[in-house]
Amino acid sequence: MEYTPHYNLTSFMKDLKTIVNYSKSKGFIFPSSEIYGGFSAIYDFGPLGTELKNNVKHLWWKEMVWENKNVVGLDSSIFMHPKIWEASGHVSGFSDPLVECQSCNTRIRVDHALEDQGVEADDKMTQEEITQLFEKHKAQITCPECKASSFTSPRQFNLLVKSNLGNFTEDMNKSPVYLRGETCQGIYVNFLNVLNSMRVKVPFGIAQIGKAFRNEVTARQFVFRTREFEQMEFQYFTHPKDDIEEYEKLKKERWNFWIKMGLSEKNLQWKRHPKLAFYAKDAYDIEYNYPIGWKELEGVHARGNYDLSQHDKFSEAKITYTDPVTKETFTPHVAEASSGVERAVFAILCEAYTHEELDNGESRIVMKFNKQLAPIKVAVLPLLSSNSDLVKKANEIFDTLRSKFMCQFDVTGSIGKRYRRQDEIGTPLCITIDFDTLKDNTVTIRDRDSMKQQRISVDKLESLLREELS
Ligand code: ATP
Repeated sequence: MEYTPHYNLTSFMKDLKTIVNYSKSKGFIFPSSEIYGGFSAIYDFGPLGTELKNNVKHLWWKEMVWENKNVVGLDSSIFMHPKIWEASGHVSGFSDPLVECQSCNTRIRVDHALEDQGVEADDKMTQEEITQLFEKHKAQITCPECKASSFTSPRQFNLLVKSNLGNFTEDMNKSPVYLRGETCQGIYVNFLNVLNSMRVKVPFGIAQIGKAFRNEVTARQFVFRTREFEQMEFQYFTHPKDDIEEYEKLKKERWNFWIKMGLSEKNLQWKRHPKLAFYAKDAYDIEYNYPIGWKELEGVHARGNYDLSQHDKFSEAKITYTDPVTKETFTPHVAEASSGVERAVFAILCEAYTHEELDNGESRIVMKFNKQLAPIKVAVLPLLSSNSDLVKKANEIFDTLRSKFMCQFDVTGSIGKRYRRQDEIGTPLCITIDFDTLKDNTVTIRDRDSMKQQRISVDKLESLLREELS
């Protein structure tokens, strides 16, 4: 039987608590170390979350690397020479301004507390500017934990996470190494290696996906702001005269990528950085309308030649490019796109979460994932668990499909309940094996969104699934 939803409450209860509880109960995202009381601002991805995350990364990689002739991939190490972080400016300048509540010692990011009051503060402000701004508005600011309103003066807190790798002295602070604070430094320091090994010519790009670590001060923002996360970073090296044109192209491509991932235009917006770094030519963020407000999903920046020049200065290498035709030598400029995998997954979960009232008076939760992102692509369901012939036939079909599509086999409960279960995790297609299957080798395929069902021969199943899921 076919139900047509008569209204579609996409924003039904899409608050943070609903998404957090949903993510945990359905195996997407778990709080880290929960049996030990949790571990602040760190999360684990469950079985379905891992599939979703891998699909996001795969589609990003396909778009950036496979589909571009002049882009190559990289997988640089998490640990790098500590001097890299001096050259990049992270040792001296990668910090957030913090105040401490004098009543309960909770640490609060000054820029966030000011933003909550509608006051724009950004990470390019000097210590003096941020202190002045805080002093001006502090009467309205209260501690999110105890509601007191007495704070210490702002001070800068460095976000780099230190480690003692290879350090056998007592004091780690004497010569620390860092867990990388961003993945793009691995790209810059391999610029010459890629250039010399891959026969690439400017303009060309390097893409990388990998873990990054930051000592963030966070307050209940789920996976939006964590201390360990994955970045998807793309650096496009151009001739200085072409950088803005390439940057504008990149901006369009990145916006379109998120639309293709299923995020709706109404939930996305551009935000220009209020104050640019001294070397930057332009900088915009793509923001998503999360349950915690409009927040950065991806940064797209025209960075000039700052990064390569800094490594040229701090290292032994001469980092320039000589055009093989014109023989002109220059330091390439960079157009950068940098997004977080967890922030992407969070946005995709919020966007997909849908509550529908059906014409028959029932309702359902359905995750309307883009089909390529859905963690489970196909569910194989024998109509009755008690009939061994149906279960055997369903298993045969499952075995032929499972190496080609991410499939799930489910025999528990009524068929209606099993459809709802698959809707709740966003499985695009369900295949039901019934008594007719045993007679004529046909199955029913049910579509997640329309709930329409069609009958198809098992021989045509694979090609139909490929078509439907592409
Ligand atoms: P924010 O202003 O929100 O702290 P940022 O400007 O410091 O972010 P970038 O350094 O530009 O972020 O990092 C690029 C991308 O990496 C961000 O757009 C975001 O998607 C992701 N990202 C950065 N910090 C975190 C974090 N702590 N947790 C999860 N993702 C993050």
